Amino acid sequence: MHKDIIKFIRDIYKTEEFIPLHEPRFRGNEKKYINECIDSTFVSSVGKFVDQFEASVSEFTGAKYAIATVNGTAALHIGLLLADVQSNDEVITQPLTFVATANAISYCNAHSIFVDVDMDTMGLSPEKLSDFLKLNTELINGNCVNKTTKRIIKAVVPMHTFGLPTRIDEIVDICNKHHINVVEDAAESLGSYHKNQHTGTFGLVGTLSFNGNKTITTGGGGMLITNDEALAKKAKYITTTAKVPHQWDYNHDLIAYNYRLPNLNAALGCAQMESLPEFLKSKQKLAKIYSNFFSKNSSIDFIEPTVNSISNFWLNAIKLESLEARNEFLKVTNENGVMTRPIWKLMNSLPMFASAQCGNLDNASALENRIVNLPSSVI
Ligand SMILES: *Cc1c(COP(=O)(O)O)cnc(C)c1O
Repeated sequence: MHKDIIKFIRDIYKTEEFIPLHEPRFRGNEKKYINECIDSTFVSSVGKFVDQFEASVSEFTGAKYAIATVNGTAALHIGLLLADVQSNDEVITQPLTFVATANAISYCNAHSIFVDVDMDTMGLSPEKLSDFLKLNTELINGNCVNKTTKRIIKAVVPMHTFGLPTRIDEIVDICNKHHINVVEDAAESLGSYHKNQHTGTFGLVGTLSFNGNKTITTGGGGMLITNDEALAKKAKYITTTAKVPHQWDYNHDLIAYNYRLPNLNAALGCAQMESLPEFLKSKQKLAKIYSNFFSKNSSIDFIEPTVNSISNFWLNAIKLESLEARNEFLKVTNENGVMTRPIWKLMNSLPMFASAQCGNLDNASALENRIVNLPSSVI
């Protein structure tokens, strides 16, 4: 059976060579813009491509403001600071995510709490979040206080897993009720929509990643998106070493960060944004091909977005029947040069987050053992 799947994937990519999980495509103006950038000498943190890249992401997502950063993790770090996450605060996120989400919380000297995901979206579950908050917190002086630790829960970070939008509107409603800010980790979901609104624009701030394996890439890069002008200004300020604007004087008034995306990377980003609509079309087509194929296979489910959402299908995912079936699938495909990968290990099982408070994680645990990503590069 796995031989059929390998042949099927080889036919899609029309190659007998190694097939990676996700590789970038440079089919447009990438070289042209990078040459322009070098010729201009503005290869570092000042230059027209950074502004252009920000404008194009802002226009594409519908967010009023976009602030480019050196990577998605840096964007998350700043996003949490904008949400007023301070030392010893707590931040709720999902246990099924890339480690950057939980790392960024630790960069703020805050503590992660892990709450379960929904089975279908594989993203933070509104019901589980609501249950956790009702059971474990109380509102004191306008703050959501954890009854067990007495710490303030300052933010919730939902993540749109593999580009599948989570029930973000419900999560925002719950957080508003409990006086908690939402920082949306939309690193994987550029081009994904929930109820026709772009992911990353529901919360106080959203963050994107343009790492080499994401839907579009700048080599390394990230972006903060928000509709709040004051937050956008602050984001720009603390990602550029809090340099006080002045024609010639050189002054700083905060310990801040050198997180600004270089112009060279932004040049790549401008070209990639031009290709994004074509990439998304191709990814929809690929997902349909996979979906049709697996609909004939009773032991493997292809993961689809909910009816209210559009996925960018950054990484296609299937659910196998058991841990044993999953391991066999991973072994056979990878041994035959078709790269597949299990979903992440739960964050609370990693040594640095092992002591984190957790809700009931039944869904995340079930998914951890059964979900596998398939080759998903643009065809
Ligand atoms: C890729 C990714 C990030 C950010 O990654 P960078 O490599 O720092 O750009 C953050 N969260 C999730 C869920 C991701 O997949």
